[in-house]
Amino acid sequence: MHIILQVAFVGLLGFAGWLFAKNSMQIRRNILLGKAEDLSDNKPQRWRNLMLLALGQKKMFKNPLVAVMHFIIYAGFIIINIEVLEIILDGILGTHRLFFPALGSFYTFLINFFEILALSVIVVCVIFLVRRNIIKLKRFASKDLNGWPRSDANYILLTEIILMSLFLLMNSADRTLQLQNIEHYNNTGSFIISGNLSNLFSNFNTSSLIAIERTAWWIHIIGILVFLNYLPYSKHLHIMLAFPNAWYARLGAPGKMDNMKSIQNEVLYAMQPELAPTGEVAPQKFGAKDVMDLSWKSLLDAYSCTECGRCSASCPANQTGKLLSPRKIMMDTRDRLTEVGKNITANREFKDDGKTLLNNYVTVEELRACTTCNACVEACPVSISPLDIILELRRSLIMEDSNAPQEWNTMFSNIENNFAPWKFSPDDRDKWVEELV
Ligand code: SF4
Ligand code: SF4
Repeated sequence: MHIILQVAFVGLLGFAGWLFAKNSMQIRRNILLGKAEDLSDNKPQRWRNLMLLALGQKKMFKNPLVAVMHFIIYAGFIIINIEVLEIILDGILGTHRLFFPALGSFYTFLINFFEILALSVIVVCVIFLVRRNIIKLKRFASKDLNGWPRSDANYILLTEIILMSLFLLMNSADRTLQLQNIEHYNNTGSFIISGNLSNLFSNFNTSSLIAIERTAWWIHIIGILVFLNYLPYSKHLHIMLAFPNAWYARLGAPGKMDNMKSIQNEVLYAMQPELAPTGEVAPQKFGAKDVMDLSWKSLLDAYSCTECGRCSASCPANQTGKLLSPRKIMMDTRDRLTEVGKNITANREFKDDGKTLLNNYVTVEELRACTTCNACVEACPVSISPLDIILELRRSLIMEDSNAPQEWNTMFSNIENNFAPWKFSPDDRDKWVEELV
């Protein structure tokens, strides 16, 4: 029987690992559809970003209470992996609490620490569910999250509560069996939380207790493997991608807009035609119409977005009732990128589907509402820049589609003809001085 369970466990583990690797490779391929951008400079600063922004969650601490609660969930996820490692090894080798003989009383300390963490995670998840569904914080009640995104957040919180409860239930039944000196159930010492729950099982016979312990063990590990494979479809992918995203953060001055090389070249070739490339030249594209026209970093941003809405809460356009929501820009980019990825998987290459990020997902009205104030970038806890995407889409809108309000067109033609936003000729510019003398 044991060997059948071990084989079943290895098969399950292999399948879950293969599926996760396959989906991860598809996400990597989708991100690399973006335009090349070198973000490998200044490694010391990148290490600092990784440690402070991703590992230390520095920006979350602007609101210390929420930061501590978020940190508990995050620490629970990272640290309990040690316990998951033991479960996996037990499943493969057919052992039970493999680490106990080697670690002794330190093992008991570790399990007690995990139990406190598990209970804290349950409490925080309940608080987060209440904030989202009963108190209905404004940024969580926003229509950006209608439908799947709102359910996604709730599913994740509920799953974490279930997984942590199963961990405590498993330990509790285990501890009761230990106290009954049942074979294989080594006496590890008392468990601080599940030990108290074991009173619940005082009237259960041994086979029922073993059935409860084993069922909780299997559902717990299957739940973790399902959770792992749910990540690529969820905003919770940020628990992994926050790290590369912090590493590859743009390190330039906040709010600095890059010159457009393509425009610089156009001007250069107009002034010095002899520098223009000869022969067949691919037509230049200005800005971004679709996800493939964005930098790969913007696409990594889209997959790293936690949908927390801090960007939209600090956006002046959003606050004053405009249609623009930087969170929606990130969600739209991710949705479109997922759609493009599915298209490529189905057809082995991208087949034009008549859609683009601009217009089909992000509207002109949203783009025009942006003041380029950079507040969304400043507010984001995971180094995301919705502004970079907005700027690229807006550049395409104006330079490719000549789609600007009449007032802007007047300003553009003044800049082109008069080298200033006003309608006066440059020759008349110093007339006011003549009037003074
Ligand atoms: S840069 Fe644009 S999107 Fe970002 S906060 Fe300012 S107005 Fe909103
Ligand atoms: S872009 Fe950043 S601040 Fe905005 S929703 Fe995503 S993670 Fe939150």
